[in-house]
Amino acid sequence: MAIAFIDLQAQRRRLGNRIESAMAAVLDHGQYINGPEVAKFERGLRDFSGAAHVVTCGNGTDALVLALMAWNVGPGDVVFVPTFTFVATAEAVALVGATPFFVDVLPDTFNMDPDHLAASIEKANADGMRPKCLIVVDLFGQPAAYDAIRNVARRYGLKILADAAQSFGASWKGARVGTLGDITTTSFFPAKPLGCYGDGGALFCEDAETADKLRSLRSHGEGSHRYEHVRIGVNSRLDTLQAAVLIEKLAIFEDELVARNTVAQRYASGLSDVVQVPVIRSETVSAWAQYTLIVENRDAVVDAIRASGIPIAVHYPIALNNQPAYSHYPVGPGGASVAIDLSQKVFSLPMHPYLDEETQSTIIRGIRDAVRK
Ligand SMILES: *Cc1c(COP(=O)(O)O)cnc(C)c1O
Repeated sequence: MAIAFIDLQAQRRRLGNRIESAMAAVLDHGQYINGPEVAKFERGLRDFSGAAHVVTCGNGTDALVLALMAWNVGPGDVVFVPTFTFVATAEAVALVGATPFFVDVLPDTFNMDPDHLAASIEKANADGMRPKCLIVVDLFGQPAAYDAIRNVARRYGLKILADAAQSFGASWKGARVGTLGDITTTSFFPAKPLGCYGDGGALFCEDAETADKLRSLRSHGEGSHRYEHVRIGVNSRLDTLQAAVLIEKLAIFEDELVARNTVAQRYASGLSDVVQVPVIRSETVSAWAQYTLIVENRDAVVDAIRASGIPIAVHYPIALNNQPAYSHYPVGPGGASVAIDLSQKVFSLPMHPYLDEETQSTIIRGIRDAVRK
């Protein structure tokens, strides 16, 4: 049987007919938008994360846009973003008319480099730009260096938007993702650690006023009732059907996170003597959205692995500051040499909670053979 990069069917088998029943219940009551499952899932996310307020929305990119809109980020404002991430992090900034300012990442955790962030803010100030906030990404599921980043943010009076699209379920110093930024966003794209059967997203915050504003913004800027519009908003809601699916998946998520960590440990013990395996800081527990290796001769290694039938992926082959649509935006002092280097050396292995030991041994053998060639 072919090895899956992310095996969603294994999870579906485990859930049995619970998904079908949950969806059938929605078809019966017919409240496809803002049905009772949406509020129930938001309560579930609140309990799981420990965040005071949760607002679901259409997808993880919209979640970022909604957060920036809630903070009135717009033309003339600068938002610092890591340059080694999925494009949506910078795209959201450009979509609200602000300027993404690219910051380099750390070579071991792939997350935003706090020193380069400080240097980038200094440069933006020196160039007469207007720093407004920063977006921290917990790449591949591991929370960023929030201590150091908060220190820098505080020094310059900038808010932190945590893009936790890949890290929902992870924790940092015992605190769950959802409570680490001033606003945190996540995605329920099917391949994310907690995924639905389509698009979905959510925002987390501690402040009730911000949560109210986000609820209004996701529904056309509605005011005291549906046809009063107090601000310019968007249409971005989590479908009731997706909420129903997510309620069932959230019920087994804690257990899946444990399984993901077991899979990661097995990879580390089978591979750490031949390749650079992920470095996990002692204060973090990763959600393992990806299991990402670093090799010098990536393209040759990747060809050999693919030839042996093992599916792998490259996240990400191009640093954002080198992307055609983003190369005109500013980048911190000295450029982003770490991100550019990583973009040429990383690749990710199959990673999901249902990866059995036998399949994993096959993958480990395949990787060992390929890197030794
Ligand atoms: C997936 C992802 C997003 C966007 O989420 P969508 O739900 O696909 O819009 C944003 N940021 C990061 C880091 C992501 O990995």
